[in-house]
Amino acid sequence: MNLMYYLGVKLTKNIGDGALKALIKTKSGVGNVELLDVPEPQCTESGVKIEIKWAGICGTDLHIYYDLFRNVPPVTLCHEFSGIVTEVGTQVSKVKPGDRVVVLGSTMVRCGTCEHCKTGEYIFCATRMGMGHGGNGGFTRYVVVREDMVYKLADNVTLEIGALAEPFACAVHAIEDTTKINVGDIVYLSGPGPIGLLCLALLRAHGCKVIIAGTDQDQLRLEIAKELGADVIVNVSKENPVDVVNRETKDQGADVVIECSGAEPSIATCLQVVKKLGKYIQLGIAGKKVSLDYDTLFYKQIQIYGSNSHNYRSWERVMRIFEQGKVDLNPVITHKMPLSKWREAFDLCEAKTCSKVLLYYDE
Ligand SMILES: [Zn+2]
Ligand SMILES: [Zn+2]
Repeated sequence: MNLMYYLGVKLTKNIGDGALKALIKTKSGVGNVELLDVPEPQCTESGVKIEIKWAGICGTDLHIYYDLFRNVPPVTLCHEFSGIVTEVGTQVSKVKPGDRVVVLGSTMVRCGTCEHCKTGEYIFCATRMGMGHGGNGGFTRYVVVREDMVYKLADNVTLEIGALAEPFACAVHAIEDTTKINVGDIVYLSGPGPIGLLCLALLRAHGCKVIIAGTDQDQLRLEIAKELGADVIVNVSKENPVDVVNRETKDQGADVVIECSGAEPSIATCLQVVKKLGKYIQLGIAGKKVSLDYDTLFYKQIQIYGSNSHNYRSWERVMRIFEQGKVDLNPVITHKMPLSKWREAFDLCEAKTCSKVLLYYDE
């Protein structure tokens, strides 16, 4: 193996006692992801050391595998995890060993002084780097993070649900922070991946009528959508979603459309089924240029909202929703697998024969 350093220590396949396993993107290019031995991170004066209990696989991890998302190798993957605090530095005052926590990994590196950092919109900070791509993430046993990145879970919230905090924050940001969605609204939600399903859970809590659309490949995810209370399920491989929306809205179109897949046909359908003066929220990433009937924006006078990740307000709300326990997110978690089976778990995610897959550390 080439010279590679991790926390300043040269990585090898086996560095002996005290070593931890970590799932690492070793160098750029497609693949180059390996479970390697790494030194145990040491707690710093301002640090919080956490033993990771559950770590979720995100589409971003797959994109890093294929080198379609920026990453700085060698780096441990995963930005969605929960765990228990094992040690804190002398300067840490709000967190203590034994606390059950989740981590806002997106703020690992940020300037703290720009307009976006100061208004809580850290995602837009020009110098920002997140855990799992810019710095070591959660597919391992221990991490050490800053105190301000740590959110304590209420006693009634499981660590499994805690591991959903980051993707749930994306859903909360889209549904609660971009615009107002009201009881009685008919919402067309396209793309039943984990984020789409988390949005669905929130929309149901709002009292909306939800039409959720997926393809033949999304069979299992559409089943989960039913369990979460979707009113109408559309398999676009078998049914024309435009006909379904017309039927369900008396030809008026959907009040709100939420695009969670990033697929060009889905984006086109969303623009087609949104009603005049309706709202369009974009959560999915296309990853390429798409061709659209642009004048639809003008003729229907659509309000369009992008929703990129989350901000501090979304995280505060996530913690409240978790604590109040009124939105059941358990159906979104379909698999719990050991880290050593990461390859199998990544394959599941790629085949979409799962919803959220959580990994746990095993020797
Ligand atoms: Zn994620
Ligand atoms: Zn900044």
